[in-house]
Amino acid sequence: MTQSLSPRVEAVFWFLLTATGYFLLASLSLHATKGADNMAAVWPASGYVLALLLLMPAYPRARVSAFAGMILSSLAANIWSGVPLASCFAYSFANGCEAAVALWLIRRREPGELSFMAPRSVALFCAAALGASVVSAAIVWALVAMLAGASVDFFLSWLTTVLLGMLIVTPPIVMLARMLGTNAMGRASAAMKVEAAAILTGAGLVTIAAFTQAHFPLTFLPCIAVVAAAYRLGPFGAAAGMLIVTIITSLMTGQGYGPIAAIEEAPKVKVLFLQFYLLSLLFTTLPLAALLIVRQRLAKRLEQSNRWLLQAEAAALVGHWRVDLIGWTIHWSDQAYRVHGLVPGSPVDVNYSVKQYVAEDGAAVRKILEVAVSTGEPFEFQGRIRRADGEIRHVKSHGSIETGRGGQAIAIFGTVQDVTETVENARILEAARSAAERVANTDMLTGLPNRRHTLAFLEKALAGARDHGAPLAVAVFDIDHFKRINDAHGHAMGDRVIHRVGQRAKAALRDEDMLGRIGGEEFVCILQRSSAQAAEMVAERVRKAVETGTAAEEGLPQATVSIGLAVFDGELDIEELLHRADQALYAAKREGRNRLRMAA
Ligand code: GH3
Ligand code: MG
Ligand code: MG
Repeated sequence: MTQSLSPRVEAVFWFLLTATGYFLLASLSLHATKGADNMAAVWPASGYVLALLLLMPAYPRARVSAFAGMILSSLAANIWSGVPLASCFAYSFANGCEAAVALWLIRRREPGELSFMAPRSVALFCAAALGASVVSAAIVWALVAMLAGASVDFFLSWLTTVLLGMLIVTPPIVMLARMLGTNAMGRASAAMKVEAAAILTGAGLVTIAAFTQAHFPLTFLPCIAVVAAAYRLGPFGAAAGMLIVTIITSLMTGQGYGPIAAIEEAPKVKVLFLQFYLLSLLFTTLPLAALLIVRQRLAKRLEQSNRWLLQAEAAALVGHWRVDLIGWTIHWSDQAYRVHGLVPGSPVDVNYSVKQYVAEDGAAVRKILEVAVSTGEPFEFQGRIRRADGEIRHVKSHGSIETGRGGQAIAIFGTVQDVTETVENARILEAARSAAERVANTDMLTGLPNRRHTLAFLEKALAGARDHGAPLAVAVFDIDHFKRINDAHGHAMGDRVIHRVGQRAKAALRDEDMLGRIGGEEFVCILQRSSAQAAEMVAERVRKAVETGTAAEEGLPQATVSIGLAVFDGELDIEELLHRADQALYAAKREGRNRLRMAA
């Protein structure tokens, strides 16, 4: 507010502001509230100066002006109200010192803006005010004792008067100035302003009602009003309410009205009682208001982080849930409801949430949760739920067990995520992969395993036979005079014969045998776990099946095969074994075809 002014004008501004305010308040206290011993109950001028010192810029020039204005107006007000001249100097000096000490104590700990909204700052302010009042009382007591002799009562009375002045007057002025400076009042809603005005006016009226009569001891009424102001309006309400109550009660009591003035005691005792009354009120409401503000801030922060959590859950499509094992209740976050196809907030219970899983998955989920509760270990499960709209969805949960002080499980906490799309994608991917694998391994003409796949299978079978001593035999067969079939009936018909031979041979094999096409019209049978005799029988069955089957087939030319059979005999690789089978096959061909020959 004074930043645009020149330093000299600024100094004059602070001098006048301090001097006029101090003079008016000091005169008012001296004339209207002092008891018969010339002591005021409250010295608002001290609070006023401290408020200005806290609000003004920290330039030495501004501060010196304020102190000068204060000392001069203090002297003037005291002289005007008839205080002896020597005492006037003593009082003014003490008041000057107390303002300096209070400012120093506050600025040592809080170089920035002193907030009356934080309990720590309120405590600092109260401690500084107390320290400054003690210093002030000690100075004035020492000086007055030197001049005229003063009692301990005088020390205590001065201390309380100054302390109350600071505690009651400084906070509302500082808060009001800051509210005006930040335009907080302009931003407040009309309803809030009306409420604040109503509460503070009510506090004033109630105090007037309690202190204009002495018939009933209604001193508790202002307490209710100030507590209400603190509760509804926070620290500013507490400070403003206190100020209103203090002004009215001191003026009324000073003028002989109200229940405190009616106490049948010496004026000194009445002042002391009024001070005690105001201090009790102050120490009830200021901390209450500060704690309320802390609670409001925490509640706001909590509400905000909860909102962020829900937003994050909605964005990530992950909800959370918690089962209270003591009360056997369940909590679902909004996103958890959405995952289950329900409107957030619908009533749900533990059984309902487990029953949402399809029967076979529900049993597994129950088991996993039981194990987690008994072991205390984190868990993870995935299952299908039937949503409220009947749709089946895949959901995945991760969770952990919450334990009580004795280590017993008290709750299960988990997240829940709809993974249907992931599961669907994985299924499609797997189907595509296995289809591709099938294509890569299959011979397109016969539908049998192709050369690559057959030889790979044989590779494994050979390793098994070598490692475990399991019997293994390989039968290689080739269609006889196939060139002639091609020549006589065409290549397409040749293809049909190859296909048919493959089918016939396959039908003659056992389930554990494997048949693959490894060349134009050449096939390999891999016969596992069979003795040489059994292998020979199977191979012979194949030969016969081709011979009879193709002959009976409508429209297909007759075809036969020659077979070479080799039984595994410790060969190191499949080439060796196949070579022996091939040799046997050539022998079969040589010996007239449509026959089976065992390798040597
Ligand atoms: P052999 O009894 O000695 O086996 O006489 P072959 O005429 O069957 O002689 P070979 O086995 O050497 O001949 C194979 C012929 O099979 C050569 C080729 O023209 C034919 N062939 C190879 N692959 C295919 C195919 O996929 N389809 C058809 N239709 N013919 C094929
Ligand atoms: Mg051939
Ligand atoms: Mg052939």
